[in-house]
Amino acid sequence: MKASLLKGPGSIEDRPLVMEEVEQPSPRAGEVLLRVKACGICRTDLHVVEGELDRKLSPVIPGHQVVGIVEELGDGVTNLSRGQRVGAAWLHRTCGRCRFCITGRENLCDLAEFTGWTVNGGFAEFMIADANFVYPIPERFEDIHAAPLLCAGIIGYRALRLTDISDWKNARLGIFGFGAAGHVSIQIARARGADVYVATRDRSRHQKLAEELGAVWIGGTFDKPPVALDAAIIFAPAGEIVPAALASLDKGGKLVLGGIHMSPIPAFEYELIYGERSIQSVANNTRDDGREFLREAAEIGLQVSTETFELSALNDALRALKTDAIKGAGVVMME
Ligand SMILES: [Zn+2]
Ligand SMILES: [Zn+2]
Repeated sequence: MKASLLKGPGSIEDRPLVMEEVEQPSPRAGEVLLRVKACGICRTDLHVVEGELDRKLSPVIPGHQVVGIVEELGDGVTNLSRGQRVGAAWLHRTCGRCRFCITGRENLCDLAEFTGWTVNGGFAEFMIADANFVYPIPERFEDIHAAPLLCAGIIGYRALRLTDISDWKNARLGIFGFGAAGHVSIQIARARGADVYVATRDRSRHQKLAEELGAVWIGGTFDKPPVALDAAIIFAPAGEIVPAALASLDKGGKLVLGGIHMSPIPAFEYELIYGERSIQSVANNTRDDGREFLREAAEIGLQVSTETFELSALNDALRALKTDAIKGAGVVMME
């Protein structure tokens, strides 16, 4: 099968991903073989490719927002059938036994495996998934629009949950960094009744998209929204945004950091966090997050803005992501 392989991390400008013919994998017990239809591009792929995440499997096929068709069932798989369309996401598998798994926090599992990082992912014609960790895709979403939901969408959803906003009607939510996750989250938050304030460095694409999706205020990354926010989410991987985002919060407000990697957070005055403001990171997701998100996304008719790339252009796609040159979400379509 054709695959985009990372043999060693490197700057995306040096085009570290190479197209190669590799052996098609076979599913073991409890696994399925998926024929990949679409695979979304995520900043985490960029972190894997550029080595900001430790190397786990090498060479590795990145990609963890995969829409595919079940092609082959491993022994003992009874919950899926051949020909079914499913999604595979970042959380490839958990142990099911550790103190996190048995208390509803499988996103923190000590022994978790991750798609496109510790096991091969979806930038290939086929991939292996655990039968218990794939999601049926609501019919209303085409392959291309379903793919970005599987990471950007699910993580955005979990970030919204972690804001601790309980009464969404007219809640004031800030979103700092407006790529794939931002443009999904704003739609969920707006549908729940929140007013959303968007701060993003890209003046053309991202600010225009935020406007189209109903942001009540749009500013540059370090601009202060005109009101004190109940909560804010930072999706950009830039630690220097943290003090600015904290300064935009009302007392008791929560700042949620949505990325798996962030540059160092500069020191800031205690005053910025005093008043019972707090900061929380988001680590991965549980399967419940995924299921609930896909249900709510289908209910509200979530619209996904996408840009299509071919598998052979993955280096270009990730470079575009790095420079904020993609409006919405980038997706690699197979064939
Ligand atoms: Zn576990
Ligand atoms: Zn991702």
